Amino acid sequence: MELAGSLRRNQTLKNQVEAESGVVLSDCYQCGKCSAGCPVAPWMDYTPRQVIRLLQLGLGEVALKSHTPWLCASCQACYTRCPREVNLPRLMEAVRQEARRRGMINEKKVDIFEQAFLGTLERYGRAHEMGLMVQYNLQSGQPFKDALLAPPLLLKGKISPFPMKIKDIAGIKNIFARVRARGGGRS
Ligand code: SF4
Ligand code: SF4
Repeated sequence: MELAGSLRRNQTLKNQVEAESGVVLSDCYQCGKCSAGCPVAPWMDYTPRQVIRLLQLGLGEVALKSHTPWLCASCQACYTRCPREVNLPRLMEAVRQEARRRGMINEKKVDIFEQAFLGTLERYGRAHEMGLMVQYNLQSGQPFKDALLAPPLLLKGKISPFPMKIKDIAGIKNIFARVRARGGGRS
């Protein structure tokens, strides 16, 4: 009974990440080229290839507990190398979104940075480095982390204390609203 429930949940999860990412999991024939070229693979608990395998085998709940989707830098190296054009960065994003919906944020600092970065994009249409740095450091419990770095950068004009908005900020906000309406984006 419990096994049947687990199989059903994992099948639902598999269908869901396929629908959200547009990736057909059976396209992957496990050659491993993605993992061989992934710059973050040495720090992952499951390689990108293994994450796909977990999902293929109906073990998506294991993939949700993995740190791999949170460490993926969306660099596209795997997608470029893949002979089957499996869009792994999108798949990782779909797994990350589902994990977030379930409150399974396996790399808190990555999540804090992502939320802060998207927040600054939504407000100004571009990154405001100073605000991003302050918000990230405060929320990740390391308020003095860049205390010595910020003054010289400010003096040299490399960063500004004041954010600058792009002209079409309404267009950017519209993109965020549409993503949110489809169940994605930041909370
Ligand atoms: S490179 Fe493509 S086909 Fe090969 S294991 Fe990775 S995702 Fe699968
Ligand atoms: S997109 Fe993610 S999984 Fe793919 S190579 Fe880059 S870091 Fe690795």
